[in-house]
Amino acid sequence: MTTFGKNNFAYAEGIGSFIMLSSIVIDAELEYDKPTVDVKCPEGCTACMKACPTQAIYEPQKLNPRRCIAFNAWFTQDGKPAGLTSHIPPEIREKMGTRVHGCDVCQEVCPRNQAKLKALRPADEFLVKISHDFSLSQMLNMTDEFYETRVQPLMYNYIKERKYFQRNAAWALGKISGRSAKQILKASGNRETSETVKKEIQAALGAIQ
Ligand code: SF4
Ligand code: SF4
Repeated sequence: MTTFGKNNFAYAEGIGSFIMLSSIVIDAELEYDKPTVDVKCPEGCTACMKACPTQAIYEPQKLNPRRCIAFNAWFTQDGKPAGLTSHIPPEIREKMGTRVHGCDVCQEVCPRNQAKLKALRPADEFLVKISHDFSLSQMLNMTDEFYETRVQPLMYNYIKERKYFQRNAAWALGKISGRSAKQILKASGNRETSETVKKEIQAALGAIQ
């Protein structure tokens, strides 16, 4: 059973919002529970709305996806879904900072998630093992094959082509700035074949003082 938060996430009792909703088809009839759209936030809490870097949550349970960093990082792709382009407005880009895939700020600040967030957990061996695949340098330099076999299967297919991941990685490196970021961007720019990615790299380089 879940209830909603003002940040639009579903919360499971005792677990919080870091859950995945999915469905399973079975051949037995089960007892139904009652669907609910109840919001069970502590009275007066607006922590998620205050913390959202882009003010995407403009009223309780109202979110403008075009301002949401997660939406922009994942879904601003040319023509997918129809009508969208890969352009991320400069104002939103600034607020993305070094985030490459999503944004969890409105879940991280939520009091309904604190118990789970603060609970001690052993390091996840799988995440440790794959962490190298997700360095900014690796992301910027990945081939189609690397993207299709190592990255995309883990990412729910939100980002359909590697060039959008690379757009986000080039931006993040530009924000990190400094000599090392500059070197990575320059080397990638020389190797890259996609015009879209090359443009992103040039823009990131141009933004570094
Ligand atoms: S995911 Fe980030 S940008 Fe989107 S609504 Fe939450 S805090 Fe705001
Ligand atoms: S931060 Fe506060 S208002 Fe937002 S979802 Fe969590 S409990 Fe609700």
